Amino acid sequence: MRETVALKLRIVGIVQGVGFRPFIYRLAVARGVGGYVVNLGGSDVEVYVEGERDSIVSFLRGLIEEKPPPARIEGVDLEVVEPRGFRSFSIRRSERRRGRRSIIPPDFGICVHCLAEIHSAGRFYKYPWNSCAWCGPRFSMMYDVPYDRDRTSMRAFPLCEECRRDYEDPYNIRRFHAQGISCKRCGPATRVFTADGRELVVDDPVEWAARRLEEGYIIAVKGVGGYHIAALASNDSVVAELRRRKGRPAKPFALMVRDCRIASRIVVIPRGACAVLSSAERPILLLPRRPGAPVSELVAPGLDKLGVMLPYTGFQALLLERMKDGFLIMTSGNRSGAPMCTSLECVIDELADIVDYIVDHERVIVHRVDDSVLRYTAGRLVFLRRSRGYAPAWIYSPFNIKESIAVGAELQNAGAVGFEDKIVPTQYIGDMDEPGQIEELERELNWLIRVYGLKPRVIAVDKHPFYRTRSLALRLAEKYGAEIVEVQHHHAHAASAMLEYNVANGETRVAITIDGAGYGEDGTIWGGEVLVVSYREFKRVGSLHSFPLPGGDRATLYPARALIGLLYSCGWRLEEVLQLLSSRNMLSPSVLPYGEAEARASYLQCSSSISTTSMGRTLDAAAVLLGVAERRSYEGEPAMRLEAAARGCGAVGFEAPVELKDGRFVVNTCALVEQVVDALDKHSTCSIAGGVQLALGRALGQIALNALRGTRLPAVVYVTGGASVNDYLVEGIREALGKEVEIRLQRKLPPGDGGIAVGQLAIASSRIDE
Ligand SMILES: [Zn+2]
Ligand SMILES: [Zn+2]
Repeated sequence: MRETVALKLRIVGIVQGVGFRPFIYRLAVARGVGGYVVNLGGSDVEVYVEGERDSIVSFLRGLIEEKPPPARIEGVDLEVVEPRGFRSFSIRRSERRRGRRSIIPPDFGICVHCLAEIHSAGRFYKYPWNSCAWCGPRFSMMYDVPYDRDRTSMRAFPLCEECRRDYEDPYNIRRFHAQGISCKRCGPATRVFTADGRELVVDDPVEWAARRLEEGYIIAVKGVGGYHIAALASNDSVVAELRRRKGRPAKPFALMVRDCRIASRIVVIPRGACAVLSSAERPILLLPRRPGAPVSELVAPGLDKLGVMLPYTGFQALLLERMKDGFLIMTSGNRSGAPMCTSLECVIDELADIVDYIVDHERVIVHRVDDSVLRYTAGRLVFLRRSRGYAPAWIYSPFNIKESIAVGAELQNAGAVGFEDKIVPTQYIGDMDEPGQIEELERELNWLIRVYGLKPRVIAVDKHPFYRTRSLALRLAEKYGAEIVEVQHHHAHAASAMLEYNVANGETRVAITIDGAGYGEDGTIWGGEVLVVSYREFKRVGSLHSFPLPGGDRATLYPARALIGLLYSCGWRLEEVLQLLSSRNMLSPSVLPYGEAEARASYLQCSSSISTTSMGRTLDAAAVLLGVAERRSYEGEPAMRLEAAARGCGAVGFEAPVELKDGRFVVNTCALVEQVVDALDKHSTCSIAGGVQLALGRALGQIALNALRGTRLPAVVYVTGGASVNDYLVEGIREALGKEVEIRLQRKLPPGDGGIAVGQLAIASSRIDE
């Protein structure tokens, strides 16, 4: 006798807005099982299936193996229930009742099927905003959850008759109940404007834009989560003009490239990278520049890598097909430091001096979502910026998280909200000292709190007394009646890394946290720390050598000041310092605006200046001493140049000794400086640059080993902070740790301050009593 079984499945993950219900429907019909599928409010999917045992097993296998490409199943609750006599299968109307909270779908790049339609006859031919259940914008156009067309900015575009038919046809694999679909009859129109907002009538906006770009014009192009600025990347004078207009002397520009084949002409593509570039997430990857690549040197001055991404809208794909080079600069459409524009008004107000023309479309961008950026460190991908394609997907915590908010730090910031066993980092927001950014962070956090229906009890904030996120934390605490918990910067970095690797609450680990700056427990600036750490607390067991930063922030902009501070702390006399600076051409105004006078003043300022153990400032000092950086024109520039300068040659074997001082292990950077100065005339800049970074890494690794010695802690060291993306530092740490101790880098979250909110939440949550 044949056995009838019935199952009730509750599926959590990215299962809404990716054609999941029609997929389930077709699968059920094909396997001959009865039942229904329904979206529960909150966006979980419930599936009831009933049929012969073999059919049900086959259905379950298909569920995993044949699911739509962008779907992510995060969890399945499976319950065996009494059969109810279902013969046929149906898609039920979405229910409003609350289910488990579910992931909000991120924005996906255009799929191969939609691209193919753009190139074939029919109503999608040359339609630049074609999308389907498997691709297209999601989060960036959502006003509310669950994800249905009338809660997105596509509600302004009622479906035409044919799109309506597709939408209602369960056999239309990619359009049935696909919320974002449109065609050239019913979808957003593409329009062209002059920079001051006069509309131009053009026949074919793609063709028109391609021609203007070839002529050297600079154009703002509306994309998914904001506007790009597009310009020729192969033409020095165009790139120089763009730099002049943007007031951006050196910060690298990202490139959009037609396909992997063209990308491989300008960068070296490691195995697997093409799949990442063409994934639904379509991130920017930083890849080694190919020697002789036809890309202007001005695109990424002084760096060995280029940021490349593939087109992720139909418009971008059509545009790149028409460009002779096959690639273009596609940089964020913003004024230097300001948020990327998401509206035509913003482009006209703020970018009129930068761009010549604007190519616009009519779909409203609800959430600004910048391009995500990843690079390879120690041979594997690491996030520099987690945004489009990834945010606001959540990550799991190994322990229960109180309903809470974390506001992050200050620069390159993102926030996060937490609940249950989940933490939802916001998309990348930006620098909090730029107008509009704090407000945007506040909006995004409040939005997540609302759509997830949270009652936050805790607001986590950095210990720094002057971060702008502090006032935001105070506002949020008042609004929600929540308690503020202060979290030390590097403790949060370490916790973020530990959470990513599922370290349980109550466990203790060793972490190396290296970055530019974080407010220390002792009121000085930390940034080269070795911590013995749990979520609840930490002990600072070691650090880099501490030195004064004459002029504070000015020492960040002018790395020669950091070098002067370092030399001062190492006991160099003023005359010795001046002589070194002079011999290395560091008294010129390109390095220190007031030359020798400024050098003298800086030296005298040292005794009263704030001091730091920052890895960033230590690398800055090395970079200026080696002549690979003069000033810092963007965050991290000297350190990035130093890393780039070390490529392709053997490193000098320097040693930075570790000493026990005031109860902690301290790296003797002074001894390292002596060796470097001595090597300046004997070795190449390249080999010295590599040697310095490796030696600093080895010294920190040595301290971590010391911290592990004699304990029962697992033989694992977490390495995090913005500087932990540096290949040479990581290699140095690895050398010191040897084979016995495992090194763990952040891979799911940015190790820089974009990932810090996650650590703040974990710490705050573990500190609050039940
Ligand atoms: Zn598609
Ligand atoms: Zn239509």
